[in-house]
Order: sequence, then C-alpha cells, then structure tokens
Amino acid sequence: MNVPRPAISDVSDAELTAWLAAHGEPAYRRKQIRRHATHTCAAGWSELTDLPNGLRDALASSFRWSSVEPVIEQASADGETRKVLLQLHDGHRIETVLMPHHGARNSVCLSTQAGCPMACAFCATGEMGLIRNLMPGEIVDQVRHWQRELAARGERVSHVVYMGMGEPFNNYDATIASARELVAANGFGISPRRLTISTCGVVPKIDALAGEGLPINLAVSLHAADDRTRGAIMPINRKWGIDEVLAASARYVARTKRRVTFEYVLLAGVNDSADAARELANRIARAGRPGDYHVNLIPVNAGPGGFKRPPIETMERFAEILSERGIAATVRISKGQDIAAGCGQLKVDERAGATLAKV
Ligand code: SAH
Repeated sequence: MNVPRPAISDVSDAELTAWLAAHGEPAYRRKQIRRHATHTCAAGWSELTDLPNGLRDALASSFRWSSVEPVIEQASADGETRKVLLQLHDGHRIETVLMPHHGARNSVCLSTQAGCPMACAFCATGEMGLIRNLMPGEIVDQVRHWQRELAARGERVSHVVYMGMGEPFNNYDATIASARELVAANGFGISPRRLTISTCGVVPKIDALAGEGLPINLAVSLHAADDRTRGAIMPINRKWGIDEVLAASARYVARTKRRVTFEYVLLAGVNDSADAARELANRIARAGRPGDYHVNLIPVNAGPGGFKRPPIETMERFAEILSERGIAATVRISKGQDIAAGCGQLKVDERAGATLAKV
C-alpha cells in the first residue's frame, strides 16, 4: 500500500513547528494553520488566504488537509439530522452524523473504528466485523467535516458523542488523543463536559478513562439486567459481566464526580419486563448510589436480529420502576431513522468501498 502524506490532524504541534522552521517560516504560522483547521470554513490548503501562496503549496505537498473525504450525504425528513459517508485514504469507509437541536446546539456523533468487533446481536455496525481502527486525526476530521459547514453560518459543533461505528475503548489511545484535541484550548476548545464516550463495557478502560484527568461523560451500554440475557445479546458480557461493569461505573463516578449514563435498548419480550426493570434497579443500587446514574431507554431501531420495540406502555412502565427507585430514566427515540442514522444503524457496504477505492 502506498503511504499517503500525513493528514494535518495527525501532525503534532512539535512536528509542525519543526516543519515550519525547516521551511524558513515564522512559528506563528502554526497557530494560523490550526485556527483554520478548527474554526473556519477552509476546505483545502488553497483557502488559507492569510498564508503566502508558496507556503500553501509547500504545505499541500507535505500534508493532506483532511483524512476523510465525503462520498454521499443524506438528510433526514426531520429537517435536522444528517449523515455523511466518508472515505479514508485506503478506501475504507465510515459514517458520521450531525444532530442539530433547533439552533441551540450542534451534536456530532463520531466513529472510532471502521466496522466493530463487538457483534452485539441488534447492531448493524456489529454485522460488519472490525475493518480497522481509526487514527486520532481520522476521528477529529469527522468533527472538522461538520465544523467547516457550521462555521459558514457562524455556528460551532457544541457537543460530541462517541457513539458512531466502533467500540471507542477498543481503540483507546486514538480515542483519548482525539478527545484531548477536541477539548484543547488551542484546538476546538469544546468543554469536556460536552463530550460523551460510550462503551459496551470494556472494564479496564473505564478505569483508565477515570484516571485521565479528562472530565468527560461516560455512557455504558448495558441493555440487560441479568448475565444470561446480556450474554445472549452482547458477546462482551462473557468477558465482563453486569456486576463488574456496574462496579467499574461506580468507581468512575467516585473518581470523576460525574454521573454515568446507562444505555438500555428495549427489545420486546427480551429485556423489557417489569421484573427486568426491578432487577436492573436492584443491581444499580447495590453497586452505587441510584442518584449517580441516568438510564436512557432506547426503543430498538430497525436492524439485525429481527428485534421489535415494546409497546409504549411497557416502555413507560420500565422507566417508572427505575424512577420510583431513585434512578432517573427517560425513553429516548433516536432521530434520523429514515436515513439509517439512528443508534446502531451505521453500516457501510465494504464491497462498494472496495470498488471506489482510490489507488
Ligand atoms: N460501541 C459503543 C459505542 C456505540 S454507541 C457502545 O456499545 O456503547 C451506539 C449505541 O447504540 C450503543 O448503546 C448500542 O448498543 C446502541 N444500539 C446498537 N444497535 C441498536 C439498535 N438497533 N437500536 C437502538 N440502539 C442500538
């Protein structure tokens, strides 16, 4: 495989400074370049008009402006949610979603891997298997893709959720490096409190994140109240069972003083009974303080396994049982399902990617 020029998002400040010095350029150019990368609508080196022409050409021959190239974009009929298919330098493809909320906030949903190795029974990404891990720059460039467009109308990406394709904690170092870039004052400058990383329950990495000194939000995909049910729909449960995941979540709360969100996909006849709700509440209460958690109940989106959504009354009853026990719970329907941009619906046809791959 031919090695591409590094993408600017994967070039460290030290490397860029050294490159500028070697090209006889003043050090302040680095800040100009970074500002364009994170704050303006510049879509390529030629658009950095405050840099001399010769420098732009030299930069273009050394670095790619972005590591992701848009292939197809889709907009939901809800008028807000949008999804874009992005191509990586080696032809693999990922998806990222923009979820604006009535002009008040702009949330971006990021992918951390092309495909995913976790094989959860209800998730479309899991059907792909793992293609490869993304580089930190390939994660950050998904934010840049939307940021460029938002900048054109004076808006910014305000929130970031690591809930796209892949398991962030299976690509831990790149995920953390990207999060540091997103919160860096000389990077995107997004408040860490507006970043959320979601994991299917990779326990050692929950503890690792607690020790990073990055006060970001943690979401844990629980999806069942007992190990037999969870094991049947989430293979990861054979490695770390529910009580281990809950204990790690309690440690995260204790160390970071941040609430943890539990995601719970409601699957009719599988994990939606009143008994399951009581069992979940009991286990959460045994592991920590009920008030430290929020449970997001997600009616399953169309995907593999033929799972069905429970009736609305069943979902509300489930939420009530948790609330009665002091655990905040909300039923949340994901947006953008008409363009398969809802939770667990991101999937790429790798065969199509292979045909269109650039050499
Ligand atoms: N791998 C991480 C990040 C993905 S986040 C994790 O598992 O947390 C995507 C969320 O959508 C996860 O909670 C996932 O379990 C959930 N999900 C997967 N398939 C879904 C479906 N068909 N309907 C609703 N949610 C789904």
